[in-house]
Amino acid sequence: MTTTNSLTTVLPDTGILDDFVSRIRGRIIHRHDADFDEVRSVYNGMIDKKPLLIVQCSDVADVVTAVNFARENQLLTAVRGGGHNAGGLGIVDDGLVIDLSTMKKIQVDEANNTALIEAGCLLGDVDPALHPYGKTVPTGILSTTGIAGLTLGGGVGHLTRKYGLTIDSLREVNMVLADGKQVTANATENSDLFWAVRGGGGNFGIVTSFLFDMKDAKMVYGGPMMWELEHAEKILKYYREFIVNADNDIYGYFAFLTVPPVPLFPEEHHLKKMCAVQWCLTMDEEAGKKAVQPFRDLAEPSIDFTGYLPFPALQTMFDPLYPKGMQWYWKAHYVKEISDTAVDMHLRNAEKLPTPHSMMHMYPVDGAAHTVKSDDMAFSYRDANWAQVIVGVDPDPANKDKITNWSKQYWEDLKDHSLSGAYINFMMDDEGQKRIEDSYRGNYSRLARIKEKYDPKNFFRVNQNIAPR
Ligand SMILES: Cc1cc2nc3c(=O)[nH]c(=O)nc-3n(C[C@H](O)[C@H](O)[C@H](O)COP(=O)(O)OP(=O)(O)OC[C@H]3O[C@@H](n4cnc5c(N)ncnc54)[C@H](O)[C@@H]3O)c2cc1C
Repeated sequence: MTTTNSLTTVLPDTGILDDFVSRIRGRIIHRHDADFDEVRSVYNGMIDKKPLLIVQCSDVADVVTAVNFARENQLLTAVRGGGHNAGGLGIVDDGLVIDLSTMKKIQVDEANNTALIEAGCLLGDVDPALHPYGKTVPTGILSTTGIAGLTLGGGVGHLTRKYGLTIDSLREVNMVLADGKQVTANATENSDLFWAVRGGGGNFGIVTSFLFDMKDAKMVYGGPMMWELEHAEKILKYYREFIVNADNDIYGYFAFLTVPPVPLFPEEHHLKKMCAVQWCLTMDEEAGKKAVQPFRDLAEPSIDFTGYLPFPALQTMFDPLYPKGMQWYWKAHYVKEISDTAVDMHLRNAEKLPTPHSMMHMYPVDGAAHTVKSDDMAFSYRDANWAQVIVGVDPDPANKDKITNWSKQYWEDLKDHSLSGAYINFMMDDEGQKRIEDSYRGNYSRLARIKEKYDPKNFFRVNQNIAPR
């Protein structure tokens, strides 16, 4: 931890702070507040950063006031939505955090089939609010993730093959820029900004609300199927062909995992390493069962929890297994093909899963996500078939090196079998500038020019940073 400064060193004139405090309608949390440690904590327990101040904004006016205060006083500023970012990019040492987590309004407009969602919402706020209408916004797989960071990076999840990435459903954003101005960006107004925020992360300003097209999703056929590792080669080789040729109503991500030792799972399988496919089919029960039957015929799953269920139930299925505060180390790739050699590498690394919570997931990013061109918006990897993530996870900080080393080695082994960049939302903050550029490929220079236009001094730099050009 690099925390060295105090508020009075950075801001000796207490009058400036008093004025700021008097103008904020939300809450300002100082280091001396009793709940400072609780408020500053983020999802990844490996991150331990101490800001000077956290501003919990109650509305857009607070966001504007906070941006102006930070800029005028040259405070390093982080922006926080759900606080889920792997690299802890929603928090900062010795600076200011503009925290939108209490801005959680959701407005459904049935006539226009849209939802206006404030940037502090978690996926677990969005799904239950839209479900009564039989609708959703296609997002990610764990309900504690923030809508803001997820959307700005792209957004992959159970409905990607059916409806595309989260940004493919985004119609408009309302933002506060580095100079404190409020703007709207959509296909016709500030269209360059709208192009950039669809994958370019928090580089261009603070999004205060997102306007999404809603998509149909009431009931789905889904859940996990798990097999012992002895079947993994057969399952993965079948899966790699099956999924890229499947109808877009069929989604299944492939995983290596350890069966959690909790009553939900049969005791004889507790703590066994397994491979799995987590399904989500936008079909009725009979059609869903039939569509995944080839996997049951290939090898009988040790655990088969597939069934017909409300979409939000699928979206929250794994929440209890991954509470806030564990140690997480992430490494990611985009993948086009899974060669036989890559399958061997996967199997070798799966056997070495270092802790029961550690895992590897391959999320399909084909289907409807492939109907958008690579330069239609900032998110570039429209030719990838999977966004792969290797995550070492454990509750015990003593195992930090163990999970980190496993993730790095697994990633290294698969490097030559992957595309050159990675999904920026699956990266820590230690990957370097070249890796960020590789993750945007041909879109990077356009992003840098848009950054120069909207944030020439790089005020928003606590992120996977695009340098102004
Ligand atoms: C357990 C877990 C599961 C996940 N599952 C998925 C998944 O299924 N699909 C998927 O796509 N991703 C997934 N992710 C990755 C996730 O998308 C990123 O971690 C994302 O950054 C989280 O957004 P957040 O708002 O919670 O993060 P924060 O930590 O609050 O912020 C992350 C970044 O976004 C910026 N940011 C946040 N809010 C704003 C805003 N309002 N305006 C401008 N910039 C902002 C921040 O400055 C920071 O750089 C998962 C992450 C975790 C930890």
